[in-house]
Amino acid sequence: MAAQFDIPTEQVVAWRRHLHAHPELSYQEHQTADFVAATLDGFGGLEVTRPTETSVVAVLRGARPGKTVALRADMDALPLTEETGVEFASTVPGVMHACGHDAHTAMLLGAAQVLVGLRERLSGAVKFIFQHAEEQPPGGALELAEDGVLVDVDAIFGLHVMNQPVGSVIVPTGPASTSADGFWLTIKGQGSHGSMPQKGIDPILVASQVVLALNTVTSRSIDPTHMAVVSVGMLQAGDAPNVIPDTARLGVSVRTTDADDRATVARRCEEIVQGVCDAYGAAYDIDWVRGYAVVDNDPEMAAVALAAARKIAGDAASEGPGTSASEDFSAYTQRVPGAFLFLGAGTAQDGLPFQNHHPKFDIVEDCLPVGVGTHVQIVLDLLDDTQEEAR
Ligand SMILES: [Zn+2]
Ligand SMILES: [Zn+2]
Repeated sequence: MAAQFDIPTEQVVAWRRHLHAHPELSYQEHQTADFVAATLDGFGGLEVTRPTETSVVAVLRGARPGKTVALRADMDALPLTEETGVEFASTVPGVMHACGHDAHTAMLLGAAQVLVGLRERLSGAVKFIFQHAEEQPPGGALELAEDGVLVDVDAIFGLHVMNQPVGSVIVPTGPASTSADGFWLTIKGQGSHGSMPQKGIDPILVASQVVLALNTVTSRSIDPTHMAVVSVGMLQAGDAPNVIPDTARLGVSVRTTDADDRATVARRCEEIVQGVCDAYGAAYDIDWVRGYAVVDNDPEMAAVALAAARKIAGDAASEGPGTSASEDFSAYTQRVPGAFLFLGAGTAQDGLPFQNHHPKFDIVEDCLPVGVGTHVQIVLDLLDDTQEEAR
């Protein structure tokens, strides 16, 4: 690490462990938000507000006017029973910080503390967004964005711990995550005795044709160089071998990394369902569940983030691909230019083969100062006009 400022690593680790032991589910982050607000108040010099019951926003005004840079952490945990066995494991039955949001919150607290100390060097303002409810659509980001949290913000940055080498930083130059949508489909046929199929409309046969045809959506309607997935993850129908049931029910998951593809996939799915059902005389109900949009990293802001990360992590910071998971950070990047980064928190080589959302998910805490340093360096690179040499 080559940071030009001191990072309160021990303190960040202690915050992370405290948060980890006291996880709260989406929209219920009351104690977490209280803890964050009290800690921020303790730094002095920050304007701390609570835009919603379980979110916290703090503003640091630099010594001179200028642009406003936002940094975001999410604070919610997941409905999982922790199996890590760490001494600071969850004290709340059935709730666990299994996505690393405890680390995100602790790192952003650390960055706030460091930047308060560097206030004299800043032209502009820093807005620290401690967001609730990332894990549960419609998501806390959308709520805060619609509430106006970005009104005076010129650029926004966030990072996520991932299963990659400790302290590495990956900055995607395009899509950093996918859009995640899906639909429930009920195909309504007409039940009949299995020996008299001509008297019914077999919804299992129709569903089977729909499943096969849905598999042509990405292979025949989407540019082969684009990432897109249509997966039928659920198909339920019937109770007996000799009875044609009335209905069949499907659950389908859809992911894309491009807004046009997202619309194309939705349109083709609908056309296929309608066409196949029409051909067999079946009716249907389709019920779309819209998830988060793609996090689109702004090329300029991604370059800023990568340059800053390199000053902290050296060669361990690089451009790289996004994730096939989805993130509500998209609610911010749809409104202001920004970049979302991935921070390596350990791999199987560190004894951590578990991905985010696994009951044994854990991080190597050596990654924490890298995240703090990257946050701080991004702000310095954008708002510190007292630096003479820019590396
Ligand atoms: Zn998650
Ligand atoms: Zn997450």
